[in-house]
Amino acid sequence: MNVRALRWASIAASLVVASRADAYCRSRTVRDVACDTFDASGCPTCGVPLFWRSRCVGFSLQQDASKQVAYDAAERAVVRGFARWSAAPCPGGTASIDARDLGPVLCSAVAYSTRAPNQNTIVFRDGTWRPDGATSNPGGLRGETIALTTTSYNTRTGELVGADMEINTAQFSFSAAGDPAPDAFDLEAVVTHEAGHFLGLAHTGDRSAVMYAGGETGRTLQRELKTDDVDAICEAYPSDGSRTVDVGVAPSGQLAATACDPEPANGLATECTANASPSCRFAPARHVGHMHATLTVIVLALFRKRRNRATMRA
Ligand SMILES: [Zn+2]
Repeated sequence: MNVRALRWASIAASLVVASRADAYCRSRTVRDVACDTFDASGCPTCGVPLFWRSRCVGFSLQQDASKQVAYDAAERAVVRGFARWSAAPCPGGTASIDARDLGPVLCSAVAYSTRAPNQNTIVFRDGTWRPDGATSNPGGLRGETIALTTTSYNTRTGELVGADMEINTAQFSFSAAGDPAPDAFDLEAVVTHEAGHFLGLAHTGDRSAVMYAGGETGRTLQRELKTDDVDAICEAYPSDGSRTVDVGVAPSGQLAATACDPEPANGLATECTANASPSCRFAPARHVGHMHATLTVIVLALFRKRRNRATMRA
């Protein structure tokens, strides 16, 4: 397997979109592959864009981190990854969203509870990649997903209520040292990309951008936001504190942010909530973006086709 040439097929599965859109797209309440209408930029137009309403959002690293990357180093990479998005230079200031480190948690599950406290977990999968997603990724394709961010949101408004990030350390090498080996992914670059998904951004067709659906081992280039990434985060979270939403959500297309409240919905829990739902199977009006795990299969199928056909070397 040519690790160097693998793309990360994380959330959004927007390879389909990336191949259509020249520039950024925002993640939406309707998954990309279920949508066949596009705007002038090539972005899907089904559903409404995702956004966090609060001026800030909290995240929590799972306390065990990884055998490959210790907690402190992982935490630094994640903090820096999110900070890049917050520091994006928008007209009139910087993007009006920032992420707060709420400290380690015990819970390693991707889940969301509508009634009990939650955690927006960032977890390394050292043992088995997505043991809970075995049925949604048949044929062993899941092994080719480098990282995955699963979001929970209000399906009517697009307001995000939870997000969990998983890093596939079971099958890939990562480095937090800033000078990754030829076969290792730069953790900070991967986390910066996933943080974009966490904040509601989809993939872009701009191959130089952080949100491009591909990454390479041995390089740190994709750490730094490019113009396309900046444009994306500034559209979603303008410096004036508004959120750019669908006109069906707010007639002006702008919704004022609420004050910074980094705690997850219903408060922060360090342990998993017993009855939290692991996927789409829960309350009406709320929907977990677990679909992305399923979508990944489709994207990876495309990859596989490409790899079989042409340039990717084993
Ligand atoms: Zn991605």
